[in-house]
Amino acid sequence: MMLDVQNLETWYGPIAAMKGVNLSVAEGRIVAVLGANGAGKTTLLNTLAGVIDPFKGKALFQGAEVQGLDADEVARRGLVLVPEGRHVYPFLSVRDNLMMGAYARKDRDAVARDIARVQEWFPRLKERDSQHAGLLSGGEQQMVAIARAYLSAPKLLMLDEPSLGLSPMLTTEIFGIIRRIRDETGTAVLVVEQNAAVALAHGDDGYIMELGRIVAADSCAALTRKEDIREAYLGGG
Ligand code: ATP
Repeated sequence: MMLDVQNLETWYGPIAAMKGVNLSVAEGRIVAVLGANGAGKTTLLNTLAGVIDPFKGKALFQGAEVQGLDADEVARRGLVLVPEGRHVYPFLSVRDNLMMGAYARKDRDAVARDIARVQEWFPRLKERDSQHAGLLSGGEQQMVAIARAYLSAPKLLMLDEPSLGLSPMLTTEIFGIIRRIRDETGTAVLVVEQNAAVALAHGDDGYIMELGRIVAADSCAALTRKEDIREAYLGGG
């Protein structure tokens, strides 16, 4: 397993937001974590990314424990988070935003190749290369955030709610590109989403999270066929 999360538990003061989560991501897989608002999905990603420290449990990334490490160190090892709500640098150009992702890299030729690569995945970022990122649409800013994360050479890309605030068409486009990134580079993906339909359609493996716990785990195809999950997360039928 590339990522193996064992009994991970995170508290905010007296509130247990994540109550012993077990989850794994195999090499090259797209893993979707679904759940309602407040289920603990953001807490899971922030704990894995080193933004918050867990109270107990383990997160093994490529065999090494990463729980409780600093966010910079976790990212350096290749576990990279695209946080909810995008966070581009509004007064920097699109190009400079991308370069910020690559700040810790010394392999300049590979960085140039990766810039060309993300511009192929996101042609709109090439068109807007010299514009301030703050002037882009929400969808384009999400593209910048994903592309910038790719520039930091992730082995596992964690995406927090990439569909937030995007139209259905743009959401499908973004998930199509996430798959393309995996297909062309082998980068594994852990994505948390409230939009269950789109996440189940594009993911390989899925987990359902409720009130800080994992309540179901299966292939996305199998989860999609389950009656109770269709009713709770896919609008019935
Ligand atoms: P959302 O889709 O709204 O981000 P989520 O599934 O990602 O939901 P979390 O944001 O992880 O859920 O929140 C899990 C629980 O922890 C919720 O009950 C939330 O109110 C609580 N919580 C989150 N952040 C904090 C915080 N900084 N302080 C106290 N409680 C928090």
